[in-house]
Amino acid sequence: MHFSDRSFLIKSKAKEHGFLLCGIAKAEKMDEEAHRLEHWLNQHYHGEMSYMANHFDKRTDPTLLVPGAKSVISLAYNYFHEEKPLDVNTPKISMYAYGKDYHKVVRKKLEKLLSEIKQHFGDVAARVFVDSAPVLERDWAKRSGLGWVGKNTLLINPKKGSYFFLCEIILDLELQYDAPISDYCGTCTRCIDACPTDAISPNGYLLDGSKCISYLTIELKNEIPVEFQNKMDNWIFGCDICQQVCPWNRFSAEHDEPEFLPNPELITMTKEAWQDMTEPVFDKLFEGSAVKRTKFAGLKRNIIFLDPN
Ligand code: SF4
Ligand code: SF4
Repeated sequence: MHFSDRSFLIKSKAKEHGFLLCGIAKAEKMDEEAHRLEHWLNQHYHGEMSYMANHFDKRTDPTLLVPGAKSVISLAYNYFHEEKPLDVNTPKISMYAYGKDYHKVVRKKLEKLLSEIKQHFGDVAARVFVDSAPVLERDWAKRSGLGWVGKNTLLINPKKGSYFFLCEIILDLELQYDAPISDYCGTCTRCIDACPTDAISPNGYLLDGSKCISYLTIELKNEIPVEFQNKMDNWIFGCDICQQVCPWNRFSAEHDEPEFLPNPELITMTKEAWQDMTEPVFDKLFEGSAVKRTKFAGLKRNIIFLDPN
């Protein structure tokens, strides 16, 4: 089968499995991205996320993850929805975390897709990745033509926006490759202007992860530094502001993944209910959810930080 037919088949299968986007890049060392990552780490923009500094070589060379790798298939899985807490003053969690943990949901789909690829092309050496291993997901998605990396440092697709998870299959099968697309941020600075903690650099395209609310509410294990008091905009798990203000998200369409449907109790939570939440309530509310990552104590810390008195 010709390389272009192989790629066509994989992309149609990806669509059947519900993936929003699929693009393919040649598996090769990422010299430019390695340089940028090194700079970012040297600036300590990763804060306490020491794992970002681990496996530097694997992160920038896919053949160290899958020996003989020829291709990286990048995929996007939609999580956009319009559910919001009924009480507008209530603490907020990021849109992606309303349903079941995407790591599990998307991984299952990716594994099914890989098993179909193997049915068609024999037992290729391959691995699937969902935010789980040292893979520069955004950079691969960019190389695969899924979108450009915007000033908010997220991957943006001109038709689908940015509310999706990225994942990859690295495999030793040669395929036809997609070309990167242009950057359409233009003169826009909405994300930079709207970020409450000034985590995005004034010219964009660079994020001080240690100032980002997503980091402060999820990754940071110590107390949230007092300089962020009154800057959290009610976020207690992640933050969507730089996506909410991005004009490319105007056309985002709702996902149709049943596993991402929110627990109805989450929508009706009041500010008081969050403040009074006990561990058993947390366990029930977030059963199977990515929010479990902060553990009860972490989420409680974030809730108290909003209103310390
Ligand atoms: S997620 Fe929130 S805090 Fe982080 S860069 Fe975007 S707007 Fe700023
Ligand atoms: S808000 Fe504007 S500058 Fe920021 S990522 Fe979107 S288009 Fe680019």
